[in-house]
Order: sequence, then C-alpha cells, then structure tokens
Amino acid sequence: MTELTKHFAVIGNPIHHSLSPQIHKAFAKEAGISIDYEAVLSPLDQLQETIKTLMTQKFNGANVTLPFKKEAYVLSNKHSHQASIAEAVNTLEFKDHEIIGHNTDGIGLVRDLEQNLHIHLANQKILLIGAGGAAEGVIYSMLEKEPSELTLTNRTIEKSNMIQNKMYAHARSFNVNLNVIEIAKLPDHYFDVIINATSASLSDADLGIDNKVFHAKCLAYDMMYGKETSFLKQAKSQSASSSDGLGMLVEQAAEAFFIWHQVKPQTKSVIHLLRSN
Ligand code: NDP
Repeated sequence: MTELTKHFAVIGNPIHHSLSPQIHKAFAKEAGISIDYEAVLSPLDQLQETIKTLMTQKFNGANVTLPFKKEAYVLSNKHSHQASIAEAVNTLEFKDHEIIGHNTDGIGLVRDLEQNLHIHLANQKILLIGAGGAAEGVIYSMLEKEPSELTLTNRTIEKSNMIQNKMYAHARSFNVNLNVIEIAKLPDHYFDVIINATSASLSDADLGIDNKVFHAKCLAYDMMYGKETSFLKQAKSQSASSSDGLGMLVEQAAEAFFIWHQVKPQTKSVIHLLRSN
C-alpha cells in the first residue's frame, strides 16, 4: 500500500460476519483504486469514540451497521436527503474534520429488485414487513419508484402506524397509497412483492403470515442473506419466486463506493463471487 491508499472501515457490533471488506476490496481491485478496508468492532456505548479514532488515523470514511445506524445519524454533522428522511446512516464520509452521513440501503434494495431481479416497482402492490431501521431506511426509495400501494405491517403494529404518519406526505407526493394492515388481516389483500425487513429470521421465528398471502406471481424478498429463512421456505412452498438480500448488500455497498470514489463499480460479478463462496 502507498501513501495514496485510502482507508475505510465497517463499524458494527457484532462485526466478524461482515462481507463489506470483501465487497469493497473487490470493487477497488476492479476499479484500480488502492484502498484498505477493515471490520471494526465498536463497544456498544462507544460509537463516537470509535469514529473519532478512525478520523484521527486519517480514515476517509466508514460504513455503519447494526446496531449503530440511528446513532450514526445523530453523530453526523451533515446528512444526505435519504439519510435525513430515514434518520439513519449507513455510510460516513470524513471530510475536513466533518462527518457527512448517507443512507444507501434504499438505493441498494431498489437496484437489486429492478436491475438484478427485473422487478419493476411502478404500479406494483408492495408489502413491507417490519418497522425497524432497515424497513424505515428503504421506504423513501420505494416510494420514488411510484408503486400503486405500499403496505406496512409489523409484529408491533404501532411502529408501522408511526412510520406511516411520518412518510404520509412523501407518499402523497409520489401518488402512492401508503397503508398499514395487521398481519392477521393480510390474507384479504393481494401483493406483487413481499419484503421481509424483520430480524425474525435470525432466530428462525415464524412471522405468522398466512400461506394465502403468497402466490405464484409474487416475489418474496428477504433482506437477510446467508441462509434460507423460514420466510423464504414458506414463500417457495406456495410457488412464489424468492430472493435473499445478498444483492441488496452488494448494491448498497456499490452506492457507498460511488460516494467515496465517484466510480460506479460492477456489482453482478461480486454478487456471483459471494454466492459461489
Ligand atoms: P431492527 O432491530 O431495527 O428491527 C427489527 C424488526 O424485526 C422489527 O420490526 C421487529 O418487530 C421485527 N422482529 C424481530 N424479531 C421478530 C420476531 N420474532 N417476530 C416478528 N418480528 C420480529 O433491525 P433492522 O431493521 O436493522 O434489520 C432487520 C433485518 O434486515 C436484519 O436481518 C438485517 O440483517 C437485515 N438487513 C439487511 C440489509 C442488506 O443489505 N441485505 C441491510 C439492512 C438490514 P418489533 O417492532 O415488533 O420488535
């Protein structure tokens, strides 16, 4: 590595499982850019200190993952439009002693759906399960694609109601019908795309969704990757198409790479590489 090498990290807790170093190094190699990129475990109550240390060590930026995305928003001095709306940050730029916070999760999801899976969201009926940081982070990017309906549901339905209230004006501006429906009432409705943005799959917990919600013409998408979740198994048992969230992970990384280097990396070969590992 030379003096021109730029330094990046992904900060999380836990972090040992992160594929981000592998993804960013693959992008950089292909683009002919010299970087190093490491996984940094931050103590849960020391995100601010961890970021300060990286800045002192002349890092150029960092990705932020569970459970720090909301706190990273608060610690950023400036925010991109997407980060301001989500009030969550997954990409930091360190510039002139300032921290600029971005959120690339929504762009990552939409690119994976539209460019890799060829599912165009315009005029579609979408169900988004979950009301945590991941769900909130992707809503604006989905609204921009002008689906006819975006329905929110969650185990704790009050959280879906809160997000609906917060996003109502944005949904109206894109002419999208933004609903909240309880999980038990989902079988009365039709969906083209069903996205699992919960962390239930971590414990293989059942989301309690009736089989009738899935059908042969819908796509079931789980943001989780690395294993076949019970959500995807259920969808397949009802003949639905399915995808995990590996493509989203690579696409959100590609957008972060663009923010840092102004180079758009090829993503398909990296997705292929990770799937074959
Ligand atoms: P949060 O902890 O913020 O939110 C968790 C959500 O999952 C809440 O809606 C919660 O419901 C729900 N949930 C948790 N356990 C259960 C359960 N047993 N049954 C039903 N619902 C449950 O997590 P995030 O939003 O940050 O992340 C969610 C998932 O998305 C994770 O698996 C993460 O790895 C993945 N992700 C993937 C990305 C990618 O690039 N592919 C990017 C970002 C996230 P309640 O409100 O009722 O507690």
